[in-house]
Amino acid sequence: MMTQEINCFEIVKDLIDTSVKKLNLNKSVYNILSEPQRVLTVQIPVQMDDGEIRIFTGYRSQHNNALGPYKGGIRFHQDVNLDEVKALSTWMSLKCAVLNVPYGGGKGGIIVNHKELSQGELERLSRGYIRAIAPVLGADLDIPAPDVGTNGQVMSWMMDEFSRYRGQNEFGMITGKPVIVGGSMGRVEATSRGCVFTIREAAKVTGLELNGATVVVQGFGNVGSIAARLLQQEDGCRILAVSDSTGSAYNPNGLDIAAVEEFKARTGSVKGFPGSKDISNDELLSLECDILVPAALENQITDKNAAKIKAKIIAEGANGPTTPEADRILADKKILVLPDVLANAGGVTVSYFEWVQNQYGYYWNEEEVNNRLERKMVEAFNNVYGLYRKRKDVDMRGAAYMVAIERISQAMYMRGWLGNQVYQEVKREVKLA
Ligand code: NAD
Repeated sequence: MMTQEINCFEIVKDLIDTSVKKLNLNKSVYNILSEPQRVLTVQIPVQMDDGEIRIFTGYRSQHNNALGPYKGGIRFHQDVNLDEVKALSTWMSLKCAVLNVPYGGGKGGIIVNHKELSQGELERLSRGYIRAIAPVLGADLDIPAPDVGTNGQVMSWMMDEFSRYRGQNEFGMITGKPVIVGGSMGRVEATSRGCVFTIREAAKVTGLELNGATVVVQGFGNVGSIAARLLQQEDGCRILAVSDSTGSAYNPNGLDIAAVEEFKARTGSVKGFPGSKDISNDELLSLECDILVPAALENQITDKNAAKIKAKIIAEGANGPTTPEADRILADKKILVLPDVLANAGGVTVSYFEWVQNQYGYYWNEEEVNNRLERKMVEAFNNVYGLYRKRKDVDMRGAAYMVAIERISQAMYMRGWLGNQVYQEVKREVKLA
């Protein structure tokens, strides 16, 4: 997923270092945040359908729990590696803090091409992973969720396995579950809906009329396809192009997203959608458009292609799609980047709502979930955008990191993790709600 040359974990550490300095915080804050608190590597034996036992490698990284239990998804992908999992867990700490959600950051992954497994093998792998990491999981300790390659069915198996381990139902130990087993209304759409809420706020502050605005979406999975559908159906945007790992569908007159979804469900690809053209990834990213939504994987917008991007707003549905060099180029071009730790935080926010509902055993309707999500996303956008406007020396990503690190460090000071150093509230630049 991550190329050899670009190491996401090194990138996120550099960004944290810069933010700690800009916030005039003690270097100890960086020292703590630059490594996860706990990283677990497990070997998972799985009986394959032909009877052979295969061993899969899995990870769980628990980055920081100053603000609450660790929280973060589980990725099934052949390119999963330890540095990627560590980077993703660090982003989760930052994301929860930007959204003011009372969680720390965690992330897990298994090196596997899940598309090559049968349903039975997938279930045994999912259950085996949970058995292997069960001692460090729990509703008050570490709460996983779906990510690339995992879904509600996988979450159900995992919840069930952990419930067997504990000898009682443990709905609150994992989120992203189907509604019938303790999931939340609105969770499937939450990441995309949250992304759309931030796009609406960005459109307001930049004076962009969303009705008729043109949109390009890279990655037509859970996040990308639903974001495209919401922008088309609720905001009247014209979706020019979408892509997945097999190709793309481009139509300058706009795509009917519901029809593309139906086509992809039937054929397994967006490529070949009637009336559309298959263009290259580079062509897609450099299309003339108002809004670009990278919603695939890391390191897609780099110094090689950033100069060609013509969008006015980039909303990062994916985690880590833009490299630091690309960020600098985009800033020079005055493109407003809504960073991942803000733009795709709707998923963890509704995961938090799901966990709250599990704790109470009382469930909200979809409207209530969406309204609460909107309030959280708008508040987070305004916090980050406000700081970005106030400080001339940071982009939106820098501002989001500053808001997050201020919150985490405040908690660390208060908990005494920073020794005898005292939190100097009067001097703090970022005022936290
Ligand atoms: P997914 O597996 O449902 O979708 C990923 C999509 O990207 C697939 O359509 C895949 O074909 C496509 N893709 C892969 N490589 C590509 C390439 N080179 N070019 C174009 N398309 C490519 O995963 P998802 O859950 O939608 O996650 C996508 C991104 O969003 C990831 O970075 C993930 O970490 C992030 N994210 C997801 C959630 C969530 O709730 N699912 C929450 C926050 C962030």
